[in-house]
Amino acid sequence: MATLADNERRERRRARRATPFHAITPFTLLDFPGRSACILWVAGCNMRCGYCHNPDIVLGEGKLTEEDALAFLRRRQGLLDGIVLSGGEATIWPGLADFAAMAKALGFAVKLDTNGLRPDVVARLLDRRLIDQVALDYKAPAARFEKVTGTPAFARFARTLDLLCRQSDVPFDVRTTVHDALLDENDVLDITIDLTRRGYSGTLAVQQAVAGPDRPLLTPLPPVRRKLDAVWLAARSALPLAFR
Ligand code: SF4
Repeated sequence: MATLADNERRERRRARRATPFHAITPFTLLDFPGRSACILWVAGCNMRCGYCHNPDIVLGEGKLTEEDALAFLRRRQGLLDGIVLSGGEATIWPGLADFAAMAKALGFAVKLDTNGLRPDVVARLLDRRLIDQVALDYKAPAARFEKVTGTPAFARFARTLDLLCRQSDVPFDVRTTVHDALLDENDVLDITIDLTRRGYSGTLAVQQAVAGPDRPLLTPLPPVRRKLDAVWLAARSALPLAFR
């Protein structure tokens, strides 16, 4: 199995290429609360979650240049309020902060979707006031983090979580994706307990992984056999839960 350092070296090489973006979703009202936005999908990722249904974005080459994306944003000035930087994992792209600065100069609010493995990048974006909202994936409790993400890096994720919990300028929300071959109700409860201990008091969004013969996944996982018991969980959770 490739180590985290191997993965990151490979992703850094890929991220330096001239086409960082896999695609642009031109319009969404769902992905940036309270704003009309587009989604910019950055190619490449530093995790390998088994249930990932974006293998093309994670493993494929980007297709759009930075200038392609900026030209799109210029055409949308006055029509959209914000942009969502998603992926893959946007924080692996070395040009991210400068791109966010250019998007803000064009008048867009910026939301970052992240798996939290690059606390250094998130810290820089916060310091430079380049992001207005964050969605953080809490993939798994520490004991299951490597199994779920393919990376033994819970401590690094936790640094991002602590960073976000310690500041109040930028709102953030947390979400967990569940596949019953990887996580169960007790794991979700462990996540809510850890979030509460670190100072998070928002909602945890819990979404069911979609896996089946018609959905190509990053690594072979069995089809989802059992959905989480939402009633059992809601009665015991330390935080409000939103099931999606
Ligand atoms: S689900 Fe995992 S592997 Fe797929 S893009 Fe998100 S963090 Fe990367």
